[in-house]
Amino acid sequence: MTLLKRDPNAPVSWQGELPVTNRYTYGLAGEKFFRALKDEGRIYGSYCSDCDHTYVPAAVFCERCLGKLDEWVDVGTIGEVFNFTFLHVNYDGSHREKPEIIAFVRFGDGGLIHRLGELEPDQVEIGMPVEAVFKPASDRTGSILDIDHFKPI
Ligand SMILES: [Zn+2]
Repeated sequence: MTLLKRDPNAPVSWQGELPVTNRYTYGLAGEKFFRALKDEGRIYGSYCSDCDHTYVPAAVFCERCLGKLDEWVDVGTIGEVFNFTFLHVNYDGSHREKPEIIAFVRFGDGGLIHRLGELEPDQVEIGMPVEAVFKPASDRTGSILDIDHFKPI
């Protein structure tokens, strides 16, 4: 077997700019999921009766049996902290005075990654119930950020 070796005279890297814009559509399930967040303040999943599995966010096919999913389930607005982490640095690289708490909030057999608020970092626990706090309806845009944060209950 012959391994390729790096040419020691080759540049280490090329510099350049690659302007990229994209648009990623929500798809059928995402459309219903995000519209429900915006218009109803509800979180929808989809259920596969063959696998007894609830997808959150909603999906149009089952990843287990590949069956079509058309049973929408309102999973409520209260989930459970499955895991969490603390952000000590802002997106621009500056340090935060207080860490932001990011959690995977479990709903059904899935869940959402989002901010936790209205609690201190030392109060977060795996398994604690948390409730979605939606923005006012007039401020919602059909985005995951229509949920402002999750709060402990
Ligand atoms: Zn299935």
